[in-house]
Amino acid sequence: MIEIPDAVRVAAECLTAHPAYVYDLRSLEEHVAAVRQALPGTELYYAVKANPDPRLLAVLARHVDGFEVSSGGELTHVRELHPDAPLAFGGPGKTDTELALASTVHRLHVESPGELRRLLAAGTGPVDVLLRVNLDVPVAGAALAMGGGATPFGMDDDGVRECLTLLAGQHRVRLRGVHAHLASGLDAAALLDLARAVVEYARGLGVREINVGGGMAVSYTDPAERFAWKIFGAGLSDLRAPDETLRVEPGRALTAYCGWYVTRVIDVKRVHGEAFAVVTGGTHHLRTPVTKGHDQPFAVLPTGAGPGVRDEPVTVVGQLCTPKDVFARRVVVPRLLPGDTVAFGMAGAYAYNISHHDFLMHPKPAFHYI
Ligand SMILES: *Cc1c(COP(=O)(O)O)cnc(C)c1O
Repeated sequence: MIEIPDAVRVAAECLTAHPAYVYDLRSLEEHVAAVRQALPGTELYYAVKANPDPRLLAVLARHVDGFEVSSGGELTHVRELHPDAPLAFGGPGKTDTELALASTVHRLHVESPGELRRLLAAGTGPVDVLLRVNLDVPVAGAALAMGGGATPFGMDDDGVRECLTLLAGQHRVRLRGVHAHLASGLDAAALLDLARAVVEYARGLGVREINVGGGMAVSYTDPAERFAWKIFGAGLSDLRAPDETLRVEPGRALTAYCGWYVTRVIDVKRVHGEAFAVVTGGTHHLRTPVTKGHDQPFAVLPTGAGPGVRDEPVTVVGQLCTPKDVFARRVVVPRLLPGDTVAFGMAGAYAYNISHHDFLMHPKPAFHYI
């Protein structure tokens, strides 16, 4: 269960069609302003793949130093909306067409010697690059590991050395520093340990710009728990030498909290002794609980009536004809009746934009901004 802010509750109660997304832009603004303040001296970029919604980007743009984009599509999208915002362009499989855009961004994150060879061959420039490193450091406790072992992301030391050789003796592609995004779902202490390792590695190469990535933890089991931005920011300040630039690029931990997927109970039933509530929509609009394997936290607004469940465990499912269409399993609720409104929280990152909208051809949700 999750506490629903009054403004979101009012918006949810006023909906005439379900399901719908409600984005709480005011809470996003407060949150990102607080994050910005907690990171003195560190550049803050937003990882657009978490949620590229233009209205969210407009709020974020007032507080961040730039945007991290992971495809030519994201690059074009952000360029159109925020022509002057500095962009960092990453992603493990950039095509030649995408590499041709390299000279239009602030930083290109080079993923491999092969990619660098294609960039050099393309002859565009000047291009300012960071080498994406995958250091051999422990990432225990991470929800997702992009580094710390064999993965398709970035380069080990051999790859980095090969890049240094390729870069030598030319001036069009300029080495500015290193980039790392080793893991996601880590707390401040664990991310600071990783940042320390990346900064030390950069110093070993003699470069002074270091992007330590995103991956700040978000707890779906305890929505009130927040990443310790102040501790993280203070740790980064201590780590940074005066002539160094440190940059972070969080996605999930910035936008997860501002999104709500609001739906309505169609049916409550008992099958082989277990209670199920079927709601309008489904995980084709909010795939997060399926991809993360968690219960999506939700609040119940008592807009319904009739026989349902009270003070007992219920599994909340959507309208899709697949057993995978589950939002939350065996959650004890005070009440859940047909017609009740269910507002799933923490649906602002890796939610609608990672979902398989066309499966079963149900209507798309409306989007509301408060
Ligand atoms: C996805 C991604 C991020 C953002 O990760 P979060 O876990 O959403 O903070 C940052 N950098 C890179 C390179 C990424 O791929």
